[in-house]
Amino acid sequence: MKFSIASRVSAAIAAMVFLTGCEQKDQTPVAAVPDTEVRTLGMGQHLQRHSTLTQINKDTVKRLVPVWNYSLSDKRGQESQPLVIDGVMYVTTHKSTIALNPLTGKQVWKHEIDYPPQTPRIVCCGIVNRGAAIDGNKLFRTTLDAHVLALDLETGKEVWKKEAIDFKTGYSMTVTPLIANGVVITGMSGGEYGTRGFLDGWDPETGERLWRRYTTAAPDEPGGDTWPGDTAMAGGGPTWLTGSYDPELDLVYWGTGNGGPWNAEFRKGDNLYITSVLAMRPKTGELIWYYQFSPNDPYDYDGVNELVMAELEVDGKPRKIIMQANRNGFFYVLDRETGELLKANAFVRQNWAEGIDMKTGRPIESEITKHMRATSEKVEIWPSALGGKNWMPMSYDPERKMVFANTLNFGWTYKPLQPSYRAGVFYMAVDWAFVFSEEQRGYLKAIDPLTGETKWQQGSKIPSFSGTLNTAGGLVFSGAMTGEFQAFDSDTGDKLWEFQTGSGIIGQPITWAKDGRQYVTIASGIGGAYVLFSGDERLASVPAGGSLWTFALMDD
Ligand code: CA
Repeated sequence: MKFSIASRVSAAIAAMVFLTGCEQKDQTPVAAVPDTEVRTLGMGQHLQRHSTLTQINKDTVKRLVPVWNYSLSDKRGQESQPLVIDGVMYVTTHKSTIALNPLTGKQVWKHEIDYPPQTPRIVCCGIVNRGAAIDGNKLFRTTLDAHVLALDLETGKEVWKKEAIDFKTGYSMTVTPLIANGVVITGMSGGEYGTRGFLDGWDPETGERLWRRYTTAAPDEPGGDTWPGDTAMAGGGPTWLTGSYDPELDLVYWGTGNGGPWNAEFRKGDNLYITSVLAMRPKTGELIWYYQFSPNDPYDYDGVNELVMAELEVDGKPRKIIMQANRNGFFYVLDRETGELLKANAFVRQNWAEGIDMKTGRPIESEITKHMRATSEKVEIWPSALGGKNWMPMSYDPERKMVFANTLNFGWTYKPLQPSYRAGVFYMAVDWAFVFSEEQRGYLKAIDPLTGETKWQQGSKIPSFSGTLNTAGGLVFSGAMTGEFQAFDSDTGDKLWEFQTGSGIIGQPITWAKDGRQYVTIASGIGGAYVLFSGDERLASVPAGGSLWTFALMDD
């Protein structure tokens, strides 16, 4: 087992030399800043995106300035989370993988993917890549043409490349692989194209596929009776965001997406295992338990959002939990040993359900949803297909027991249509349009995971699709679609600092430390689903162009 954030205090002397030049509170002993790496997606296996570093804090953040900027030579959206391991930073774009010196921003190596010319137009919601995973001397990533790639960590040279599936039938891959118990696990995208979702486990050394688990149950499999006929075989359940892994329980948790087509009357039944969390053994892909968030989901409420692990007292009892801010507008807390539903509360405006029945774990559908199902008439549903929260990862502060998430505040009109399947073409069978009736289309929220209640919120007219990061320095980092990288007060939500990065931010901030100095890194580069589908004219003046920024405190 490998801990995700390695901390060493060997830099204590260097830290003290540095800190003597900084502002300090009277009588407050200054802690050494241990070297701190970012070895995995989510800044740790729990995916909490929480750092114990405090050099950059509520008082000092006003002195945060850029240290370097690196051009990603790419006009597409930049959603990749960088890694910092053994003195090297690694970052991906949809077409390249880059190693650079984290202190100077100077490139060490770069690997480019040669894509077939028809690749980009197959992808639904933005030409992106969300990052790499590293194990031993190899880096693993996925490609838009549905391959998994292993690169030599030292040189960037290709070690192996395996096709997961033929991309021409609507599949693609943007997901960060997960390393669990010596297996490289990858998901796929393409839930809007009549695909059949799956997860693959790969041997890191050879690239041999060890197992595949489909996420829709075939007619002869357990759960197959939750689909009419053979509808499961193009039934969706994509796995396009990375799961989490608990090494003590040896369980991988992975969320699945919408059923296909969106029009659910065509696939009457619960449709196992769409919009679910699957708890699996990483060595075999064996399903240990599952929980389905939105049975027979008609609204594209993918259940793929990050599954954050924590230890929480729930109703007086300590529990090992996973939590998820689901696209369907409810915040779920589950026991991660058993899959028992512990809490499910709305965290955004929603009208598709009255609530979640805590006995059965099933949503209680609202009169509006019942009416739509009964009549196929046009209805207005909140949240929209993009959900109460989309892919942009939230962070969890274990001291404040709060989640910080960029949430969405718009709905959509929805009318089911007769489906017709064509390979590689959008397969939704719904006439839809966004409803932007609120001035604030998004809120950065501090959410109590046990109640779903908002402790504070910061509204934005253009919603943010940035991940968040929180620190023991009392800060929440986030980014705006208009380019500002921002720091907020964890306790009040007050904006304490911002810096214009030149293009829109839809990335995943990280913080790390080296030689006594704390750094914050974020990719900038506008793109993604909101830009593609919102028609928001205010974004016309935000230039494209990917780059990586790293910040630290001014010396004095
Ligand atoms: Ca979807």
